[in-house]
Amino acid sequence: MLQKILIANRGEIALRITRACKALGIKTVGVYSDADKDLMHLRFVDEAVCIGAGASSESYLNIPALISAAEVTGADAIHPGYGFLSENAEFAELVENSGFTFIGPRPEHIRLMGNKVSAILAMKKAGVPTVPGSTRAVTTHNALSEAKNIGFPLIVKAAAGGGGRGMRIVERVDMLLESVQAAQRDAEMWFGDDTVYMERFLQKPRHVEVQVLGDGMGRAIHLFDRDCSLQRRHQKVIEEAPAPDLPEQARAEILQACVSACELMQYRGAGTFEFLFEDEQFFFIEMNTRVQVEHPVTECITGIDIIEQQIRIAAGLGLDITQDDIKICGHAIECRINAEDPKTFMPSPGTIKYFHAPGGAGIRFDSHIYSGYSIPPYYDSMIGKLIAHAKDRPTALARLRQALDETIIDGVKTNISLHRNVILCDADFNRQAMDIHYLEKNLLKRQ
Ligand code: ADP
Repeated sequence: MLQKILIANRGEIALRITRACKALGIKTVGVYSDADKDLMHLRFVDEAVCIGAGASSESYLNIPALISAAEVTGADAIHPGYGFLSENAEFAELVENSGFTFIGPRPEHIRLMGNKVSAILAMKKAGVPTVPGSTRAVTTHNALSEAKNIGFPLIVKAAAGGGGRGMRIVERVDMLLESVQAAQRDAEMWFGDDTVYMERFLQKPRHVEVQVLGDGMGRAIHLFDRDCSLQRRHQKVIEEAPAPDLPEQARAEILQACVSACELMQYRGAGTFEFLFEDEQFFFIEMNTRVQVEHPVTECITGIDIIEQQIRIAAGLGLDITQDDIKICGHAIECRINAEDPKTFMPSPGTIKYFHAPGGAGIRFDSHIYSGYSIPPYYDSMIGKLIAHAKDRPTALARLRQALDETIIDGVKTNISLHRNVILCDADFNRQAMDIHYLEKNLLKRQ
């Protein structure tokens, strides 16, 4: 087993990884920026190392500082969490070339999936259904001929894209070239790579994703699915597992297709296949080669600790569970709690004057906040995840409403009221899973 893990992240996921290491008896190294001295997990890790200034580029994205921190503390592995360097193939390569274990997939798979054009091609080969679209990079030269095959409306996306940024919907042909150029500019600015591609813009899909684990030696399993359709600006706001109301046949097929693709690639570690689901069909959009923010809902319904599995796989211990061991138990729903204005969505950093955690049966609150904690302005505004698990969806929703009522965060603005008073009281959402546009087009308009 690994002896000492350096956690190359911050906030709730750093605390989550610390907990998993403790449970496995593995020593931990926390890293922090100048702005993050008061992070909760730093109180629990065995050692803590400052890796630079507040700006992410100088700390959590600072590869030499992270590798040095691993060297001076004698860590044998690095867990990247999500965001930051978690899907950076060069980082994974450097970690391995420096003699450490990277807790994640092989660099070649991170690279393959990090470029969505190559990811889609790999999926087509593996028999995973994809969105009808361009099968190569799109430029102003080939955009028109590609668009003719796809039809309108279509969506132009950055090959290196992430975080819902840099996507452009094109309704008509006369907007095409302009949109491709603008998307290329955005892609260069956000991701340092101006490669873009196009897909059919699906009108009312749901976002359904499949959690997988691969042992890196050709064996893989799935941990069922999640629905993450409630989104704002292509960013998830609420996630649940299992995805409600999927036709059993289509679902069984897609789960198997994901497992087969992982086995074919000899995929190592945790991963997520993201799909759009429309008219009873699945269309692959991308694969995430890291642990997802929303992994707890899957942990609740399967009883599998995904971070523990990541660590075991990285240690070369393989999978200690088989597909037959994985059974769905009940339903789980997660609200992302952000420090932001619930109406304008402007981030609201500052000091939490008072905090009271929710509790009760089936409630899990993954968060690093505490009374007196100051949220720095440099990073993502997500300060926690509130998860409710129960025997069925209506009971999980009821527990979540109560838990939101119990959560008190004074001193900064949060989106708790959006969750409690808008989304979780919506009759349609309570009845069934909604499509990816529902939150923005229906619920936010009513606020
Ligand atoms: P990112 O990597 O930036 O998160 P994704 O490709 O995962 O980008 O897409 C994020 C979200 O954007 C999806 O969950 C969906 O809401 C929307 N989206 C992406 N592709 C399409 C498409 N072809 N049609 C309609 N919506 C899409």
